[in-house]
Amino acid sequence: MTITAGIDIGGTNLRAAAVLEDGTIVAETSLLAPAGWDALRDAMVTLIQDLRVEVPELAAVGVGAAGMVDRRGVVAYSPNVHAFADSPVRSDLEERLSLPIAVDNDANVAALAEARLGAARGCAHALVITLGTGIGGGVIVNGEVLRGAHGFAAEVGHFQIDPQGPICACGERGHWEALASGNALGWMGREAAAAGRGKALIALAGDIEAVRGDHVGEASLAGDPEALAILDRYAEQVAIGLVGLANIFDPERIVISGGLVALGDVLLDPVRSHFMGRVEGASARETLTIVAATLGTQAGVVGAALLARDLIS
Ligand SMILES: [Zn+2]
Repeated sequence: MTITAGIDIGGTNLRAAAVLEDGTIVAETSLLAPAGWDALRDAMVTLIQDLRVEVPELAAVGVGAAGMVDRRGVVAYSPNVHAFADSPVRSDLEERLSLPIAVDNDANVAALAEARLGAARGCAHALVITLGTGIGGGVIVNGEVLRGAHGFAAEVGHFQIDPQGPICACGERGHWEALASGNALGWMGREAAAAGRGKALIALAGDIEAVRGDHVGEASLAGDPEALAILDRYAEQVAIGLVGLANIFDPERIVISGGLVALGDVLLDPVRSHFMGRVEGASARETLTIVAATLGTQAGVVGAALLARDLIS
């Protein structure tokens, strides 16, 4: 029985887990993500050494990194993890751990996990879109994660929808991520509250500046009409990006992940409605469904461990 490890590198936390082929986690550990590449690399080495105490037979390590990962396993750039700047993740970890190392973008490994073991299981063509601090995306084509010429494919958050829109984390204006990420929902909530259309949000958050996307979600679940109106406008922004992607990739399933999927159909129904109203040839896309992810926050480490498994199989 082969056991591989997955590491998930986010802006705040580093998580690592030892994972069986069916996605079962047999050991896990985590650390706060330190600043600077040398400290981040050493923290990853520590996590794997800790796992090896419990699971000495680890056969390979996969890494999912929030950033642009090239085909050599170098993280070229990351708007959310500033430690990365042409960081040689694969070669540095191989040297220190003497194990096979595979590296990919965090959204790509989450998509791999959902495609093999989660909500896109059995789909040859799927999109896995994570609505979080930013927007991450993975594109499954013919059952494989699309990686592109340099490894940078599916940076779906960073195509421009409104040249006059808000500034994106990457510095450009009006990208889909700036309009439809979880953070964007918070911004829409604050804007509505400031205009007198968010009394329930202010009651939940304490004041206008403290309103976040979570508050819009909570008030929406309670049936507050003003919050539901904000969520509907937000769902339209989400759908606009999904429509563009569906017109290009023609998926049979679109999987939505990230903390907001806890809202269930309160979020997904308006997304579906705006999507079907805009996508080309809606009536002919009979198998297309938009569903919530099933692996939740485990998708990162499980997907990274699957990537490692693919490397050695
Ligand atoms: Zn951007």
